[in-house]
Amino acid sequence: MDKIVSLCKRRGFLFQSSEIYGGVQGFWDYGPLGVELKRNLKDAWWSDMISAHNELIVPANAPSEFEMVGLDCTIIMHPQVWKCSGHYDLFHDHMVDCRESKKRYRFDQVRGRWCSHGEKKIFVTTMAEAELELDEVRRRAMKFFKLRPKNADELSVGNESLTLDQIQERDQVLAPDAKSLDTLTEPREFNLMFKTTLGALGGEEDAAFLRPETAQGIFVNFKNVVDTSRVKIPFGIGQVGKSFRNEITPRNFTFRSREFEQMEIEFFCHPEQSKQWYQYWRDRRMNWYTSMGLSSESLIMREHHQEELAHYSIGTADIEYAFPFLPAGEYGELEGIAHRGDFDLRSHMEGKLDPNSPEGQPMQVELNENGKPKHKGSGKDLSYRDPVTNERFVPHVIEPSAGADRAALAFICEAYSEDKVADDKGDLQERTVMKLNPRLAPIKAAIFPLVKKDGMPEIAKEMYSELKKHMNVYYDDKGAVGKRYRRQDEVGTPYCITVDTDTLSDNTVTIRDRDSLEQVRVKIDDLVGELNQRLR
Ligand code: ATP
Repeated sequence: MDKIVSLCKRRGFLFQSSEIYGGVQGFWDYGPLGVELKRNLKDAWWSDMISAHNELIVPANAPSEFEMVGLDCTIIMHPQVWKCSGHYDLFHDHMVDCRESKKRYRFDQVRGRWCSHGEKKIFVTTMAEAELELDEVRRRAMKFFKLRPKNADELSVGNESLTLDQIQERDQVLAPDAKSLDTLTEPREFNLMFKTTLGALGGEEDAAFLRPETAQGIFVNFKNVVDTSRVKIPFGIGQVGKSFRNEITPRNFTFRSREFEQMEIEFFCHPEQSKQWYQYWRDRRMNWYTSMGLSSESLIMREHHQEELAHYSIGTADIEYAFPFLPAGEYGELEGIAHRGDFDLRSHMEGKLDPNSPEGQPMQVELNENGKPKHKGSGKDLSYRDPVTNERFVPHVIEPSAGADRAALAFICEAYSEDKVADDKGDLQERTVMKLNPRLAPIKAAIFPLVKKDGMPEIAKEMYSELKKHMNVYYDDKGAVGKRYRRQDEVGTPYCITVDTDTLSDNTVTIRDRDSLEQVRVKIDDLVGELNQRLR
């Protein structure tokens, strides 16, 4: 992971936000190559899910044909949206504060192990990365018990790494940055929505929130879309955009950020078909990741247990990836696919429904002390009338909700590799290569004149100008060709095109493939067509 992080910074994929002022935790800027990669990723998603979708045919394994359209909604919405969606009351994490270090942690993220020395047993915690966790716990325990290295065998450290919520004896906890025991407060709820103020007066009634997900913009526009476009159920609405969560402990590079981008679909269908559509979207989204280059060995589909599910949901599954910063056997969420029933549309019609009402019970509108609904809905009819059968119903929703930054990080991690290739003299040289899917690669092709003479740079520059109209290409005439290849391999450029002596006589150039290293000669006139075909 360290190598990946340093490559991302060195080659301009990612920078810490406001770095010259010391940075701000949980915020990241995409550099010149990173922005291309992320844009390609979002474009691929948008094209594959929305714009290139053909509503005239039934896709493989789909229950029927369906339509897909897009939306681009605002980040700040009416505050009532978040009351009815449940985010205002329920979007919490538990946090603990350390009275000694004044630091704040997410309760479920503080990990540690029981450590004993003689009669004394304490729970030593650390926020160190997974692979360093055991060493760090041992180091801190040695320090706490004032043990010298020669007495290391007097210390026993538990085999199991536990989180704070798995132990009872809080007074025996050595907090991650503390020197004495029992310095953590009781866990407290902390709403993850960023609050802001509308207008100049700034009273509590002007409070608004930065959206913590893009989905709600889709729900509140459901009726607008049905009324203004020709869509008929089943259909999906997609949206790509920024979301904000005031994560207590942002970490693992961009994996948990406070500002991030989501790529979400809300798919509206008839309640009787929702189970089939749920299956369809689970499988389709999993296949998308593998088709874009994530290996199926590094991906899992984690079905939520029955007790994790909201009462209205038939199922939720997370697509998870084995990020290299996680311990072996652990996975991090890339996307959640949730069957949401009619919960969201109904909430925006009737007011926030009690998501904790027992299964089988009718959903209750939460009432305030005067017996009025606590969070009033819009009162608008968000049901749907089938134009053929005339049946009126509140559609069920399947929600495939992906994170663009987590996906970009997964593709970078998957693509990073090191191998050995022969140089001009036939000697094996180490190379770092990002085996990115060509659709995602920030630079599609690099153009090299073999030498800076004999008219080669002129031909190469002309080719560069022509190709630039079609794709992101890069011109490089500095250093040996081998070195230029290495620079491009490291950032995932799938093709390098070289103008050489033969070009001068027959107007052909070599295209070298990043992964197979194969070189073929192609006529300059055929280059655009050839590259476009390979990049598709
Ligand atoms: P987690 O459990 O990791 O906090 P979540 O279950 O809260 O994630 P969802 O609310 O399902 O996440 O959001 C959908 C997707 O948005 C996630 O699968 C992830 O890709 C992305 N996402 C959510 N929170 C963040 C974040 N803090 N930073 C980056 N991406 C995020």
